Amino acid sequence: MAEAKTALVVSAHAADFVWRAAGAIALHAKAGWQVTIVCLSFGARGESANLWRKPGATLEGINASRRAEAETAAKILGAHELIAFDMQDYPLPIGPAEIDHLADVMRKVQPSFILSHSMNDPYNVDHPDTTAMVFKSRMIAQAWGYKPGEKILGAPQMYLFEPHQTEQCNWKPDTLLDISSVWEQKLAAIHAMQGQEHLWSYYTNVAEQRGNQARRNSGGQAGAKPVTHAEAYMSVFPRIVSTLD
Ligand SMILES: [Zn+2]
Repeated sequence: MAEAKTALVVSAHAADFVWRAAGAIALHAKAGWQVTIVCLSFGARGESANLWRKPGATLEGINASRRAEAETAAKILGAHELIAFDMQDYPLPIGPAEIDHLADVMRKVQPSFILSHSMNDPYNVDHPDTTAMVFKSRMIAQAWGYKPGEKILGAPQMYLFEPHQTEQCNWKPDTLLDISSVWEQKLAAIHAMQGQEHLWSYYTNVAEQRGNQARRNSGGQAGAKPVTHAEAYMSVFPRIVSTLD
């Protein structure tokens, strides 16, 4: 049997991979890919508003709840592995050790593509900080002089997640991924994120709107199943093609 194809998702907080990439994870997992998710933090400080409103809430308790939610969501999506760096959030204390750790994960996973956050986000600095880390780790993992003798990383494409307010983040999609066939899985994963119930309908609407745009951009070919839900991404590196169709 041929080795499974692999992909890597790097999420700043526990729920980001759900809102922004759950469809991509489920879709590739369904097609036999091994999708590894790295969660730098569980978003206990900054992205767990509902849980903090409960009486007696503590940082440890919320971290445990968010870990359980993220693991449930990863399971629903058929992810190969969820790797938790278990860092503090708001802000993420990213240093050389964390960057090397992620480079090691990249070398182990050898992903064909990597998903992470937009390069800018004035509302949530943890998100672009994560992306900056991913670029550094990708560069290190490609370097022959880092841990010589190991298999180096190739040149995986980077796809940047859709941020909450795209215009402020200088983010413009060039890729619409049809996630209609796995939408129910994405919705179930969204519902697993109890700490941020206020975002459930928001990200359902986003998926429907991107689905509508995917229909318009695909020219509505007869016979093709219409796209109902989509995820949008902004790619970073040039694609190597031999024809332009
Ligand atoms: Zn986040």
